[in-house]
Amino acid sequence: MPKKRKSGGKTGSSKGNFGKVQCVNCGRFVARSKAKAVTRRTNLVDSRMFGELKKSGTIIMGGSTKAYYCISCSIHKRMYAQRAKDERRTD
Ligand SMILES: [Zn+2]
Repeated sequence: MPKKRKSGGKTGSSKGNFGKVQCVNCGRFVARSKAKAVTRRTNLVDSRMFGELKKSGTIIMGGSTKAYYCISCSIHKRMYAQRAKDERRTD
């Protein structure tokens, strides 16, 4: 059977199985190597307060949240763009 993509749509090394993660948007379970991971910074204080505290010289710690999206949702949200058929396989 012809292969659509060299990697089979996965990332990473030659490791066999990856754990499953849940898509934040639709709830589908996908392998971690196939999911799109997005890390975002989270602010603990709101923006107006943040400006005031910054003026007074306060060091504000922020957290970060990691979210996983399945391929269908990441295409829908335009994180990825579809490539033309002849551009897909590169080998
Ligand atoms: Zn999804």
